[in-house]
Amino acid sequence: MPRPIERVCVFCGASNGGRADYAQAAQLVGKTLATRGITLIYGGGRAGLMGAVADAALDAGGRVIGVITKLLEGRELAHTGITKLHITDTMHERKAMMAELADAFIGLPGGLGTLDELFEILAWAQLGIHGKPVGLLNICGYYDSLMTFLDHVERESFLRLTPRTEIVLEADAARLIDALGTVGVAHARFPK
Ligand code: AMP
Repeated sequence: MPRPIERVCVFCGASNGGRADYAQAAQLVGKTLATRGITLIYGGGRAGLMGAVADAALDAGGRVIGVITKLLEGRELAHTGITKLHITDTMHERKAMMAELADAFIGLPGGLGTLDELFEILAWAQLGIHGKPVGLLNICGYYDSLMTFLDHVERESFLRLTPRTEIVLEADAARLIDALGTVGVAHARFPK
């Protein structure tokens, strides 16, 4: 029985990326979460897609919880207008807190920080540390090549989850958020 999705953690770029579609998609995700009464959990930044998703959720009357490190906050990179901002000592604590607070995870376009966060969550799902749904917003086919690579990892027998069925891949924000409520990720599967 999937648990109700009340808090969704969004991982995304601290930059806007090279296309206006990315920020538009981030805004739509923020707005859709807010209009469905779902709290946004995110990295607490004010720049790039992180800022776009948070601002859109706030503008639509939603709750936004950020988790940022002391160092990033000290560099004045934190969003100061969100509902609640948690400040951690380390990046590891930050990621663990975001994971703990959320019922599900969404990856939007982003760079190494986003990929690190996504892969940690997927690796933890595979180990059975959590069983929370994970989705990717595949706007402009951003995650096509990553999924193709994960198919390769699976074919080469290095994967213990099935990416095409256990990661929700959707180009539409509303369909992605709806699908999170129906798809469970990952049960612990250890190597034999
Ligand atoms: P990226 O996908 O590489 O843009 O990284 C996004 C992640 O990078 C965030 O979750 C943070 O861990 C970190 N990060 C980098 N720059 C910032 C910033 N200006 N504000 C907040 N977090 C940032």
